[in-house]
Amino acid sequence: PVGTMQAWSLTIDRFIDHAARWHGERKVVSRGFDGDITSMSWADIRRKAARLSNALAAHGIVLGDRVGTLAMNSGRHIAAWFGIMGMGAICHTLNPRFSDEQLLYIINHGGDRIILTDRQYWPVLERLLPQCPAVEKVVVLDGDGGDGWDAFLADHDDNVLWGEFDENVAAGLCYTSGTTGDPKGVLYTHRSNSLHTLMIMQPDVYAIGANEVLMPIVPMFHANGWGLIFAAAAVGCKLVLPGARLDGASLHELMEQEGVTVAAAVPTVWLTLLGHLRETRQSLSTLRRISVGGAACSEAIFRGLMDHGIEVRHNWGMTETSPVGTGGVLLPEIQQMSDEEQMRFRLSQGRPIIGTDLRIVDEDGKELPRDGVAIGEFQIRGHSIAGRYYRTDRSALDKDGFFSTGDVGTIDGYGTMRITDRSKDVIKSGGEWISSVDIENMALAHPGVKMAAAIGVSHPKWNERPLLLVERSGEGDVTAEDIRDMLAARLARWAVPDAIEFVDEIPLGATGKIDKKVLRARYAGYYEK
Ligand code: ADP
Repeated sequence: PVGTMQAWSLTIDRFIDHAARWHGERKVVSRGFDGDITSMSWADIRRKAARLSNALAAHGIVLGDRVGTLAMNSGRHIAAWFGIMGMGAICHTLNPRFSDEQLLYIINHGGDRIILTDRQYWPVLERLLPQCPAVEKVVVLDGDGGDGWDAFLADHDDNVLWGEFDENVAAGLCYTSGTTGDPKGVLYTHRSNSLHTLMIMQPDVYAIGANEVLMPIVPMFHANGWGLIFAAAAVGCKLVLPGARLDGASLHELMEQEGVTVAAAVPTVWLTLLGHLRETRQSLSTLRRISVGGAACSEAIFRGLMDHGIEVRHNWGMTETSPVGTGGVLLPEIQQMSDEEQMRFRLSQGRPIIGTDLRIVDEDGKELPRDGVAIGEFQIRGHSIAGRYYRTDRSALDKDGFFSTGDVGTIDGYGTMRITDRSKDVIKSGGEWISSVDIENMALAHPGVKMAAAIGVSHPKWNERPLLLVERSGEGDVTAEDIRDMLAARLARWAVPDAIEFVDEIPLGATGKIDKKVLRARYAGYYEK
């Protein structure tokens, strides 16, 4: 028999309605491209979102149509998300760091009818639009002219009927950067985003409540904005958005000025901020907790932040997992351990959270033991995990309903996930697997090292051998011998890279991660000379 509770569907409009009705006055503070600070309340954001829905409807946008956003984080961008999703259209976040070719591909593959953009990215669209036949209109979020946000909303009021559709209707579209092949679209539903929001607010993940001042340093176009925009609305907390200024000085100033208590970003951002704090001998007076993810985080970053009294949490996830899959809170048994042992767990990728199930499998898809030794590919399933990619009929799951992540590593007896590599970055030398993540993290422990990338380079005798590329931090002197000695002290002999090369700059991809594809191509014949 069916239960007798209310049929209250899990749609995203509930979140903004809640924020506006119960936390209406709390602020969303944004820094624009020129550095100017603007502020909107949650009630303002809801009003603007409602007007946008009406403007889009007047233009002819209906349920299921794609509306793109090419923009940094801002109050208006948030209003755009809720306005698009609330009416049942699909918000397609476009990553401005994608190449022209990738952007063109995703705008056309997505079939975006309207694009909302920051003025800053107008030149990009001007270049691409002649080749985007489906795009009918561009609205400039921070523009005041005829094609600006105000003009687009001008004739519309804030009476709107949101929701009223099935919770499995699509809400958002986000493409992975496609380090191999074309970008692939992940199509979130209202249900998956709603449940993911509830998952990540919990104490064991981001621990976000109304009393926090949250700064998501991750862009909204990257992996669903890590779900943080929805979580902020769900609790109605104050939100601080740094826009495009992600240098240490700007971030630090804004955090202090606005009293930020919780923040989330990829490791490179924390590295930059720590460098700034060290150089200027400053501290963070309000920040209490941060989350790091998107790439493996080094011990140096953990220790650096912990020295400032900040609790650091490591999360793992990917665009296909909405994106949070694990939480990095230390279990009570682990808190009893020595500082060094605890660090091993901090540096791991955390444990599955409610709503996800995780396993490792061998090459035949057979589940491997959770003993911290067996290495396999991580697979995940759950209510916020992709089932197939946008515009394909083919399931992305195996026969047990698991999604293969492309990440490789172990699960230990505490259920802790430890990533040793991405499958495409794995270094296999003379039949042994060498973890590029281990090599990089050990090298990063030297203060003279700013960034490190270990890649497998083909080798006449060993099939592949590791090569370590290092970008100097400018702090003190560091030689290849220094780094080799550090690595040799902790790694198995065959895992120590044969060569260490210093480079001016390690190339980063569209989501701020090291672009190993570029490095592998550049150093392809290195060990054959
Ligand atoms: P891409 O980087 O390919 O554009 P995503 O942003 O979805 O796509 O990145 C997901 C990948 O990032 C994961 O599969 C994993 O390899 C890596 N990753 C995410 N979080 C962590 C973490 N905490 N530690 C190590 N790697 C991580």
